[in-house]
Amino acid sequence: MEVNIKNTDDLIPAIIQDSETKNVLMLGYMNMESLRKTIETQKVTFFSRSKQRLWTKGEESGNFLNLVDIKNDCDGDTLLIRVKPAGPTCHTGKDTCWQEENKANYGFISNLEDTIKKRRENADSEKSYVASLFEKGINKIAQKVGEEAVEVVIEAKDDNDELFLSESADLLFHYLILLQAKGFQLDDVVAVLKQRQK
Ligand code: AMP
Ligand code: ZN
Ligand code: ZN
Ligand code: ZN
Repeated sequence: MEVNIKNTDDLIPAIIQDSETKNVLMLGYMNMESLRKTIETQKVTFFSRSKQRLWTKGEESGNFLNLVDIKNDCDGDTLLIRVKPAGPTCHTGKDTCWQEENKANYGFISNLEDTIKKRRENADSEKSYVASLFEKGINKIAQKVGEEAVEVVIEAKDDNDELFLSESADLLFHYLILLQAKGFQLDDVVAVLKQRQK
């Protein structure tokens, strides 16, 4: 692993990022020795300012930060370290040191799931399409998913990319609504997919 960091006796700030979710998990400080040890053991090791010694994150909790890669910044005085965390990174049990609750992060899709949830809880069904679907109930929502799926199939046979993508968006959108109507979120499906990967 090629890391171009200026040789220094100072502590180097290291941003720790989840390689999969891209969430920033924590920030720690490293010295040259802890950087070497991190590369050697493939487990992120800091220089702890409070302990005044090398600190391998997870040494007590088992929640190690398994190294994926290390990048220095433009002028070689900070680090971005991508990891696969073995468990929650924060000592409070949260996945990140800036989180109030553990929640999957699928970027735009997660925001869309939040919007759907808000419409379900608060919106006027006269005005909100999503609220009106929830009001009609699960059978109607499931039927809608079926229809959109059929439309995707039809468009897949043509070569109109625009229509295919448009129907795909309809399908995904209504599928997210169906998941919530059943009391689930995309993360529950992802958990099943991950299970299959093992
Ligand atoms: P661990 O390295 O996970 O075994 O935790 C050992 C100790 O390090 C904990 O008892 C905390 O005092 C501290 N610690 C753990 N995780 C963090 C963190 N993300 N940020 C700051 N301190 C931490
Ligand atoms: Zn810099
Ligand atoms: Zn923390
Ligand atoms: Zn459609």
